[in-house]
Amino acid sequence: MEKERLDPWGTGSVKDYARLQSEFGIEPVASLLPRFRTPSPHLSRGIDFGQRDLARVLDAVDAHKPYAVMSGIKPTGDFHLGTKMTADDMVYFQSLSKKGMVYYAIADVEAYADNGLSFQQTSKIAIRNVADILALGLDPDRAVVYLQSENLKVLQLGTVFSKGVTNNMLRAIYGERQIGLYMSALYQAGDILMPQLPELGGPKPVLVPVGADQDPHIRLSRDLAARYHEEYGFVPPSSIYHRLMLSLNGSEKMSKRAADSLITLESRPNDASKKILTAFTGGRDTVEEQRRLGGRPDICPVYDLYRFHFAKDDRHVETVNHECSGGVRLCGECKQEVTGLVKTYLEEHHRKRDAMTKDAEDLLAKSRDYLSSKGR
Ligand code: SF4
Repeated sequence: MEKERLDPWGTGSVKDYARLQSEFGIEPVASLLPRFRTPSPHLSRGIDFGQRDLARVLDAVDAHKPYAVMSGIKPTGDFHLGTKMTADDMVYFQSLSKKGMVYYAIADVEAYADNGLSFQQTSKIAIRNVADILALGLDPDRAVVYLQSENLKVLQLGTVFSKGVTNNMLRAIYGERQIGLYMSALYQAGDILMPQLPELGGPKPVLVPVGADQDPHIRLSRDLAARYHEEYGFVPPSSIYHRLMLSLNGSEKMSKRAADSLITLESRPNDASKKILTAFTGGRDTVEEQRRLGGRPDICPVYDLYRFHFAKDDRHVETVNHECSGGVRLCGECKQEVTGLVKTYLEEHHRKRDAMTKDAEDLLAKSRDYLSSKGR
C-alpha cells in the first residue's frame, strides 16, 4: 500500500487520518480531551485530531508554568480559512493560562523561496495578516509577532542547524527540493525552537498548532531539538494537528494557488456567496436520490464550512450532518443557510480587522524592539 505522503508546500490532501497517525507516530487527541475544562470547537468537533506531547503543555497550564504557542503564516496573500484554523488554535491555547506566550512568525523567507514574493511585497501583506489574527482574538500583550527575515535569532538558529543536517536527512523528510525550500525549513525550525533560547526564558514546552500537512516541519524540529539538546537544553516541541478542509471546487485541498477552492477573510461577502452557491457538494444527482439515499457530508466542502467555522454551536453541526445523511436536507437550502452565516461573519470580521491596522503595526514594532532588547 502506498504511504501517506505529506508535502507542506504541495496541494495534496490527507486521505486517511488513521493511517497518517500510525505511519508517522502521531497520537490521537481523544484521550486528552477530559483535561480541557472548556474544549474549543476544534477539539469538541474532532477537527484537532492528532498531537505529539500535548500533555507536556497541558501539564504547564495546570501547574501555572510558562509555555509558548508558536506558529506562523506564509504571507502570500489573504488569510484563508485553513490559515484561520491555525490562528484559532493559537488564540485558544494562549487563552488557557496567563503564562502562555504566543510567538507568531510571518514566514517571508518561505514566501520568497516557495512563491517568489519579494520582502517588500510580503512586509505589506504581513500587516493585514497580523490585523486578521488580532481580530480573531489574539491577546497582543502576550504575543511576539515578527518577520522571519528580520529576526536575527531565527536566522542564526537556522544557520546553526544547517551544520547539523545532511542533504540526505532533508531529502528523507521533504523529498528532492530546491535548496531555498530546505533553507526555509531550517529557519522554520529556528522559529519553533527560538522561544526556548536563554534570553527568552530558556527551555519550556512549546506547542505548535498546524495543519496535518505541516508535520514534516515538526519532525525536523523535534529531531533538531534532540541533536542540540546538550548545547541549548531544548525540550522537543509539542504539536497539535487539525484536519484539512475540503476544497470548494472539489479538488484535493484548499489552496491559495486556486482562487475558486477557498474563501479568504478578505473575500467580499457577495463573492464568497457566489463561490458557495457554485461549490462542489456531497449531494446526489437528483432530489429523489438524495431523499432516498441521503447526502454525503463526509465528502462535502459545504458541510466543512459548518463544521470547521460557521455553525452556531456543536449541536448545529450535528443537525446538519443528521439531516443531510437522512435525506431531509437538500443542497440548495443547505448552501443558502451557510451563505447567510458566512456573509454575517465576514462583515463582522472586516469591521473588526479594519479597526486593527494600527494595532497590527504597533505589535510588529513592539515585537521588533522586544526581540532586539534580548540581545543577538
Ligand atoms: S445537504 Fe448540505 S451537507 Fe449535505 S451534501 Fe448537500 S450541501 Fe453538503
